[in-house]
Amino acid sequence: MRYIRDMNLAPDVCYQALASRDHRFDGQFVVGVTSTGIYCRPICRVRCPKLDHCRFFVHPAAAERAGFRPCLRCRPELAPGLAIQAAGIASDIPPALSEEEASS
Ligand SMILES: [Zn+2]
Repeated sequence: MRYIRDMNLAPDVCYQALASRDHRFDGQFVVGVTSTGIYCRPICRVRCPKLDHCRFFVHPAAAERAGFRPCLRCRPELAPGLAIQAAGIASDIPPALSEEEASS
């Protein structure tokens, strides 16, 4: 199984950080959840997914390339140190939902 391609982040270490919402790891990686198609920062408040459903990426752009969408709670694509613009994939990020859209 392929988790991390280009960094020394072991899946079990990432999962530990995720399970404990370890702030030291915020900005180090994002986690894509295969059951939801969403990727998150390690500090996200959503329920911790099963390890089987986790794919770890060192950059949001990598998660997007793998088909994951950014979580609307923790906004991994905007996180300090992770800003997706840094990867040169700016532009087509959809704007935040307006109030009406969000409440309908
Ligand atoms: Zn999240």
